[in-house]
Amino acid sequence: MTAETLRNLVETVPQLKALEEEREIFWRNPLLKPAAQGHSLAPLTMADIDDAEARLARFAPFLVDRFPELAPANGVIESALRPVPALKARLNTRYGADLTGTLLLKEDSHLAVAGSVKARGGIYEVLKHTEDLALEHGILSGFEDDYRKLASPEARALFSRYTVQVGSTGNLGLSIGITSAAVGFRVIVHMSADARQWKKDKLRSHGVTVVEYAADYGKAVEEGRARSNADPMSYFVDDENSANLFLGYAVAAKRLVGQLEALRVPVDADHPLFVYIPCGVGGAPGGVTFGLKQIFGDHVHCFFVEPTQAPCMLLGMATGLHNGIAVQDIGLTGLTHADGLAVGRPSGFVGKVMEPYLSGAFTLRDWRIYDYMRDLWETEGIFIEPSACAAFQGPVMLGQTEEGRAYLADHGLTDKMENAAHILWATGGSLVPEEVREVYRNTHLE
Ligand SMILES: *Cc1c(COP(=O)(O)O)cnc(C)c1O
Repeated sequence: MTAETLRNLVETVPQLKALEEEREIFWRNPLLKPAAQGHSLAPLTMADIDDAEARLARFAPFLVDRFPELAPANGVIESALRPVPALKARLNTRYGADLTGTLLLKEDSHLAVAGSVKARGGIYEVLKHTEDLALEHGILSGFEDDYRKLASPEARALFSRYTVQVGSTGNLGLSIGITSAAVGFRVIVHMSADARQWKKDKLRSHGVTVVEYAADYGKAVEEGRARSNADPMSYFVDDENSANLFLGYAVAAKRLVGQLEALRVPVDADHPLFVYIPCGVGGAPGGVTFGLKQIFGDHVHCFFVEPTQAPCMLLGMATGLHNGIAVQDIGLTGLTHADGLAVGRPSGFVGKVMEPYLSGAFTLRDWRIYDYMRDLWETEGIFIEPSACAAFQGPVMLGQTEEGRAYLADHGLTDKMENAAHILWATGGSLVPEEVREVYRNTHLE
């Protein structure tokens, strides 16, 4: 990006100045359209999500075989949706959030196998690849076949000839690594400098090869992709462009319907639903948002949250340049304590799909993720990792920013907020070792 291009951008996109100055902002997406219009622009449909859900159902018996802890849930990997009233009170008193309605926590932090939202997209993508290979080599005769055959010695001998590779800041690597190893693939995870040591240790304990980079996520992905492309027996999980990952995340929305009903939380024109999701490269929050918009249409309002040093999706969408711009281009470092969100360049695929769907995005400074983490721990006794707590910035700031209030007014929501439900999408945390949790709890930043 030349200095001149950048100067022109700053003139046309006023938020860039605030981003450059590391200010916490709410950016309202000017391209948001009625959901029906969004659907007509989208490259994927509800039928694709249904297809993904059906694939996960086919694999359920195999998953129980490989991960016995999934037996009680019959092989379905899903998380709880939980009201967090004490946290709501804390956000109001401590940060002046003035939050009304119901505050809920979606505990993807506690998803089985991978302990993060990556259990959705990552596991789905590995299963899709497994199915493709098994059908091609006659291990499975078709979708009706018994998928437990995939655990047979014959199947494992086949899978052991193949390699799966992925670039990751940590959690995607955990998800892809653990699942691929359980299927029987060789696995190489390319970890960026941000990745926490315990995640690398855990992967190695599963027999996964971990390659460490001194550089950021973008570099780890680039190297991983190059090495995988050089090996005809290797499959690269492309977090930046994968429709499969995206669809795995989107299935979450279908499962949410029954959970909201069980809690007697209606979603309709008089009962808006607000969803706040931490964003890195965009796949997880994008996929979840895509699913939610398919199901709840204009009644759901989806927001991403990013660190002030790594607001890559906001930057890509606000400028319309998507993966053609990185946070380093506007003088930011991309370095953040929110390791799961430490991404400098967004997914162009996701940004483009999100244009008509995303309501907006928040940025937050790093100190907040530790404070929010303690707020949840102290009020509800629930631990989630600091990156996941970025979500809390949404309900705290929506009503406290001029742009946020304008969003509510323009959508006729101001007098419906008593009836609103807010979902904090808790994206990770249950696998964090106790000693690391203790370090987090004692971390106080300015
Ligand atoms: C990966 C991750 C995210 C964001 O997902 P992206 O697909 O990178 O946008 C958010 N929170 C946590 C804890 C994560 O691991």
